Amino acid sequence: MCGIIGIYGNPEAATLAYLGLYAQQHRGQEGAGIVTLDGATVHRHMGQGLVSDVYPDQSALNGLEGNVAIGHTRYSTTGGIDRKNVGPLLFNVEDQPVSIAHNGNLVNLAAKRRELQKQGAIFQTTTDTEIIIHLMARAKGARLVDRVATALEQVEGAFSLLILTPEGLIAARDPYGWRPFAIGKLKDTWVLASETCALDLIGAQELRDVQPGEVLLIDDQGLQTVHQLPQRTAKHCVFEYVYFSRPDSRIFGSNVDKLRRKIGKTLADEAPAPTADIVISVPDSSNTATLGYADRSGIRHEIGLIRNHYVGRSFIRPEQKLRDLTVKLKFSTVKGVLEGKEVVIVDDSIVRGTTMRTLARLLRQAGVKKVHVRITSPPIRFPCHFGLDFPTDKELVAAHRTKEEVQAYLGVDSLEYLSLEGLLASMDLPGDQFCSACFSGKYPIALEESNSKDRFEMEFQDSEVIPDPAL
Ligand code: SF4
Repeated sequence: MCGIIGIYGNPEAATLAYLGLYAQQHRGQEGAGIVTLDGATVHRHMGQGLVSDVYPDQSALNGLEGNVAIGHTRYSTTGGIDRKNVGPLLFNVEDQPVSIAHNGNLVNLAAKRRELQKQGAIFQTTTDTEIIIHLMARAKGARLVDRVATALEQVEGAFSLLILTPEGLIAARDPYGWRPFAIGKLKDTWVLASETCALDLIGAQELRDVQPGEVLLIDDQGLQTVHQLPQRTAKHCVFEYVYFSRPDSRIFGSNVDKLRRKIGKTLADEAPAPTADIVISVPDSSNTATLGYADRSGIRHEIGLIRNHYVGRSFIRPEQKLRDLTVKLKFSTVKGVLEGKEVVIVDDSIVRGTTMRTLARLLRQAGVKKVHVRITSPPIRFPCHFGLDFPTDKELVAAHRTKEEVQAYLGVDSLEYLSLEGLLASMDLPGDQFCSACFSGKYPIALEESNSKDRFEMEFQDSEVIPDPAL
């Protein structure tokens, strides 16, 4: 998962991209970058950490001149946490600068990467994204956008892409529409972003989504759809509504806030807690669903946990030892609200169980009598290969445990999940237009080989490495 932003036709392109990255910080906290195009000259400033780490003051933006910019916040799902993997990636294709920002995750590419290496390709990163550039460099076509389309016909998986070229700004989305991708306008400036919250911050008007399978070009003539990849039934990631997207965004045609409340209401119908005194959320991602749960159940909503906003989302941190510490740093309890109460705590999901286990302990320490956990999604039992970082079932607490075993592991008095049927029934679109593979194990596309996060890292050790001179 990542956040991407593209700006076309504005002298303040870098500043607008920077703001768009800020709005999408929740989509990736490992690194951030902006690339601008100023005539034939390309500028890049990127680094590891939060947007505020990479751009601590105005001087970091000063060199980023040009009317066109793309930006990226990185959350690694292929390739390690390494500076070389931070986007947007930058290459030369036939002496033309080409920069790419990718939200999603490609699959079934180990063979393709090997094949390209045998043909002489020297990879600079261990990302899946770089494969698109090598395929594009080899493709035939009068324009770069035609070559991009040819490249994308050869890859599978989830991609919302922005590609900065001297021909213009190219955007493309996989035929399943896995990840959100919005188009907006700020007067004459085109703005494209993973989530509409980025458009709102900049003041851009949302026009439409980049359609599943659409490859489009924005240049001085305007926006034109150049290619349509083969049509598929949509498979939007339902987890975007459950957890990932911001509640003030509109994705896949619906407001996240509205659907998240509906999900909370459905959970209250399916999994009541009639003896509970209060219902609390795990801030911030379950705040909205908790309002729905409280509204439907009639149980009083209270603020029982305070989140320290200066610590990032624990789930997104990839190293386990960091993750445990982050939970304790991140939440504190409001004893006056919790003491002596029977409490329903609503969360969006349980991935590794680390957060909820620690929270249950904190609630008991605050004097809570009983802890009832209610989860606004089904148990996550299967890895995601399309852009979320829970790639192996070893890390998933529910993968090989019954509900009772997970409840015992968490140390809580009751545990209930929303059913998959209840989750999909809460959507505005039909259930078959969503990917729910991490709950059901039914992957929309066949997975042919290892798709682990570090699959290219292992190969990379045997490869000849030419460092990117711009790094
Ligand atoms: S497997 Fe789960 S998290 Fe991954 S794309 Fe599908 S619904 Fe989303």
